[in-house]
Amino acid sequence: MFHRVTFRSLLLLALCAALVHGEEKPIEETNSSLPLKKAERCTVDKCQLPNCRCSGLRLPSAEFQGREKEIPQLITITFDDAVNVINYEQYQQLFQGLVNPDNCTASGTFYVSHEYTDYTLVNALYQQGHEIALHSITHGSGTDYWREADVEQIMAEFGQQIEMLEQFAKVNRRHIRGMRLPFLQIAGNNSFEAAKRLDLLYDSSWPTQRYRNPAMWPYTLDYRSVQDCQIGPCPQASIPGFWVNPMVSWVDTQGYSCAMIDACIFPPKDDVDALFQWMLENFKRHYEGNRAPFGMYLHAAWFQRGRHNFEAFRKFLLHVNKLPDVYLTTASRVIHYMKHPTLGRPFHSCPKKPRTTCVKQNCALRKVETGEMRYMNVCDSCPTVYPWLGNPLGTTAY
Ligand SMILES: [Zn+2]
Repeated sequence: MFHRVTFRSLLLLALCAALVHGEEKPIEETNSSLPLKKAERCTVDKCQLPNCRCSGLRLPSAEFQGREKEIPQLITITFDDAVNVINYEQYQQLFQGLVNPDNCTASGTFYVSHEYTDYTLVNALYQQGHEIALHSITHGSGTDYWREADVEQIMAEFGQQIEMLEQFAKVNRRHIRGMRLPFLQIAGNNSFEAAKRLDLLYDSSWPTQRYRNPAMWPYTLDYRSVQDCQIGPCPQASIPGFWVNPMVSWVDTQGYSCAMIDACIFPPKDDVDALFQWMLENFKRHYEGNRAPFGMYLHAAWFQRGRHNFEAFRKFLLHVNKLPDVYLTTASRVIHYMKHPTLGRPFHSCPKKPRTTCVKQNCALRKVETGEMRYMNVCDSCPTVYPWLGNPLGTTAY
């Protein structure tokens, strides 16, 4: 486990470095082999809501101009990677008692990866109203794996993960709407083409540094994106109706950009107030600006990294939760809002919480690929072998 954590830290550092130097990197050629249509320049007359929106800094509706203070401020709190008994407890404490101004429960988004995930806890998060989204089965062996991946590979990683979440956590596949690529490594058109073919609604893997003040709103890939390409190759084809939920960067204490909170190289000192003030500064760029959705993207491991990280994070959430026009909601609800933007209350009604039954099974399974044993909690019944890419339901001991 320690080895894993160290490795992750290194990856995050590598990711930061890529982000810091990203603007110098040329946009690489896309590696799509498919005859996709090249995206043309976007104009508002050709691209209109609810299913098309040009990239850029425009407000969700022209009528909102000058009325930014009436736009509801949406906040998405997202966590990547495995859900386990330790971080599940933190998630419970983090969201405890948080209710949005429309009396709906505050919720977050979990980009779940398969290995070491406790599917009964995924089921619990799902029933609490959080969004369960995709982060792949294998998580890959590094950025090369994802940068070079073709459409079929990406479809296998995410499509088979949908089957796993359905089978082991009893998440309805209609509720699985989005994905985040490991290491935020997109593969040109391929990632988005795969996501579109899997009938997903949005991707949230693409960071922007250039469009953080004012911040970038989500948009569709019908037409050419103006977003800066930090971790290329970025898509150049038209992928109609598919949404990009850009990861608007935070700024650390030295002015460096970070796509994820835990990737900031120079965070403030480990002190509740310093951390809280820093979060507030980043938030204010949105709240006192154009009100584009504010993303709080991280891994739960960050709570272990500093003694006061968790307390500061919770303090920040309690603070913003008192504001009358701030909503802690899921990434897919943000896209829903983008399709039907309003001033004031963002949603007509609260999302219905799914009701499922999950009888916990603790399964000891052999991982065929390596011969190791894995313990895996699932709903209702154990697979035969440890599920993996190519055998997502763990049915056959091949
Ligand atoms: Zn990850």
